[in-house]
Amino acid sequence: MRPLLGFDMDGVIIDSEDFSEVNWICEAFTKTLRDFGIPENEENIRALYIKNMRCNAAVFCRRFGIDDPRLMWERREEHYITEKLAALNAGAITLYPDVRILKDLTCKYPMALVSNSPQVVVDRVVTRFSLAGLFRVQIGRGSSLQSLSRAKPAPDMLNEMKAVLKATAGYYVGDEPGDVQAALAAGLLPIRLVRDGGPGDIHSLIELGDYLQRIVLS
Ligand SMILES: [Mg+2]
Repeated sequence: MRPLLGFDMDGVIIDSEDFSEVNWICEAFTKTLRDFGIPENEENIRALYIKNMRCNAAVFCRRFGIDDPRLMWERREEHYITEKLAALNAGAITLYPDVRILKDLTCKYPMALVSNSPQVVVDRVVTRFSLAGLFRVQIGRGSSLQSLSRAKPAPDMLNEMKAVLKATAGYYVGDEPGDVQAALAAGLLPIRLVRDGGPGDIHSLIELGDYLQRIVLS
């Protein structure tokens, strides 16, 4: 049985980081706060990141008199999807040029995309950048607050990838500690991609083929 090769999406396949003052993610979260009359400051924007929402949604909502955190989450999800799709359409989110090298690996490994982005966004990325020939499956997270418990660093989505690809072993390429944690929990070998030259396993997808070769031989 061939080992699988899984990829995180943001920071690995697409460049979705936007350092402009009014970027798409800031826009989405500011609109969410505005909908509930919550002060639009950095601290409150940060509270809407997934890792904070999954632990602190109830506490954050209670502080601002929102009885049901699901109401806040639904609005946050709506704005997040709208703004991210708009950024994709506008060309503010781009495909990393080194993704083209991955087609050389498709004959060796069944490949998949697994992302903490909502499924609709992951599907749009695959369509927009014509990635269907590269990945046999693309898995995004669910859109309910409850489904956040399945998002990385939980292993659930990576286990789903293993089941779909009928593989028991493989690798997962990610750019964040949560990717490494999820990979290990799912019994996969994590490969840390660090694009800014810091310490990591690879610094570009161009290095991936050789890296895989080296660890198979070692
Ligand atoms: Mg990432």
